[in-house]
Amino acid sequence: MAELKDVKGIGPKSLALLNKIGINTIEDLVTHYPFRYEILRRNELFEVGDKEKIIIDGKIESMPILMRFKAGLNKMNFRLVTPSGVVGVSIFNRAFLKSQLTVGTGVTVIGKLDKQKNVITASDIKLETLSNKIKIEPVYHATSGLTNKNLSTYINMALLFYGKEIPDYIPSEYLEKYNFSNKKTSLNLIHNPSTEEKLKEVTIRLKYEELFAFMFKINYLKAQNKKKNQGLERNIDKDELDKFIKSIPFELTSDQLKAIDEIVSDLEANHRMNRLLQGDVGSGKTIVSFVGMVANYLSGYQSALMAPTEILANQHYNNLINFLKGTDIVVELLTGSTTKKEKSRIYDGLKDGSINMVVGTHALIQEEVLYNNLGLVITDEQHRFGVHQRANLQNKGKRPDVLYMSATPIPRTYALTIFGDMDVSTIKEKPMGRQKIDTMVKKNSEIKDVLELMYEELKNKHQVYVIAPLIEESETSDLTNVNNLKDQMKLAFKDMYNIDIVHGKMAGAAKDMIMNKFKAGDVQILISTTVIEVGVDVPNATTMVIFDADRFGLSTLHQLRGRVGRGTSKSQCILISDSDTERLKIMERVDDGFEISEEDFKLRGHGDLFGTKQSGDMAFKIANIREDYKILLQAKKDSREYLLNKDTNNDELKIKLINSITKG
Ligand code: ADP
Ligand code: MG
Repeated sequence: MAELKDVKGIGPKSLALLNKIGINTIEDLVTHYPFRYEILRRNELFEVGDKEKIIIDGKIESMPILMRFKAGLNKMNFRLVTPSGVVGVSIFNRAFLKSQLTVGTGVTVIGKLDKQKNVITASDIKLETLSNKIKIEPVYHATSGLTNKNLSTYINMALLFYGKEIPDYIPSEYLEKYNFSNKKTSLNLIHNPSTEEKLKEVTIRLKYEELFAFMFKINYLKAQNKKKNQGLERNIDKDELDKFIKSIPFELTSDQLKAIDEIVSDLEANHRMNRLLQGDVGSGKTIVSFVGMVANYLSGYQSALMAPTEILANQHYNNLINFLKGTDIVVELLTGSTTKKEKSRIYDGLKDGSINMVVGTHALIQEEVLYNNLGLVITDEQHRFGVHQRANLQNKGKRPDVLYMSATPIPRTYALTIFGDMDVSTIKEKPMGRQKIDTMVKKNSEIKDVLELMYEELKNKHQVYVIAPLIEESETSDLTNVNNLKDQMKLAFKDMYNIDIVHGKMAGAAKDMIMNKFKAGDVQILISTTVIEVGVDVPNATTMVIFDADRFGLSTLHQLRGRVGRGTSKSQCILISDSDTERLKIMERVDDGFEISEEDFKLRGHGDLFGTKQSGDMAFKIANIREDYKILLQAKKDSREYLLNKDTNNDELKIKLINSITKG
């Protein structure tokens, strides 16, 4: 295939500029789609403002006067009669048109209107009145030195000479089925649409193509995963497992039981488990994962549970130990702050198999960590980890089953794409006795009410979280910082209550110490940055006050809010902000995480939902999965059908699609 530098008009300088905006091949170039279009309708003179673009039909009223300047420059002037009045037209360097621009000729003039002078400086004159009512101009993401016009020219040159070579990722049977135009025609149309209807049609076709290729890959990965004998052989002692489940001091919800059932069946099946356990904050995913770990243990394998923060790893470890009291299962905790001596003891135990379960942070995926027979890997708050880190952990064992947990409910389109290669268990139901958390948006001027509310709760022996977005004033001076908040709280509550701080820059041990004090009830007011966002569980904490709430996405706020309302007492969450209150009020109304994530998704895209780590995986050129759910579903269905159709196994396209996955 020809290269970018072969395209007429692209020299070394423009090549470098194209590379700069990520265009490296001819295919990149012709799929550099307009990010919007300027739709130009024919105007009347009075519709257009001064120095604005105008497209207008009319008849030439005066013979054009031609002026020639030095260096080949020339200019023509004439008067144009339009339905809304007479206007002067001047155009540069079109001397060659003069013979055709006779009095009485109908033309379309495209240019800029100067209202004072009543003159259009034309960029183009068309010798007939526009056959279409509108002209649609593509607008591209460009860069300095590379104009919209340059891009348009290069793209059209590339299409003219190499258009036939651009691969089409839609199999011919689907092209036929949907009556889609071929790739070259479609590309021509997307870059030079003739009508809005055509543009719409071809946009759908190109979106479908992109989603088809994407979903094909996902379906392929899923099928690979399911292939027989890929998992571990195991036998789970169900009586023992039942005994463990019965020992749990509360009644599991039916969603929890269902999830457990799905996980246990996956463990037993000879395919490898690749499952996402999703449930709103506080829905009780942890215990479900513990049951999975016990089932795994009962079939003779080691389990590893990875959490994104030390606080959370600690909490899981302590809970797990509690639940496992009375069994002889050996559990260890491995985090960044585990001492060297301890570490090497744990490494030995994992290697020789004397440790059955390990809970930890990223420390679990360090190179030195070797497992004897890792059978189950669980990552909590999975969206906090990059794809790469997850893969690292999975590769620690031979073919461990894998369970991901996420408390960020994922809008259904995203679930399909990001987690499309996984099976999903969903916990919707909350454990019994949980009450809705009252959420209120307050202004900074209402701080007195907030303090009073805090005081009421504290008096009732409950605890309070206070959240601030940043740690140090230096980061941005207008944000309330934790130390400031501590002083304020001290001032308000004198020495009646113990107040402490945790933040992200603290050493693990220091953080743990304070968290433990809070858990034990020795600290009543905990001031924190978002380190406590994920997973922390202190049922006696009933109130959360979030300062500068407008700085957070709704999903983050929902996660934070989920730290309260964990016991049986009524809980509340107060969002303090002087701006963006419309958005924040959504939190007052909605308490379902799924609904909130949809709202967030609409407002902010997926940035807040997944951190930055996964956004790279989601780069679509034309499809927009916020809007193209229907196309996505169809592409998913078709690509699966295509994948499973054995008759197409020798298709060049199919082989190409598969190769592109194994390479990536
Ligand atoms: P999340 O799904 O957010 O990770 P957790 O697993 O931390 O939630 O559970 C929140 C709290 O609810 C924990 O204290 C847990 O022990 C408790 N819990 C879980 N399941 C139940 C249940 N079925 N009944 C009562 N409490 C439960
Ligand atoms: Mg959790």
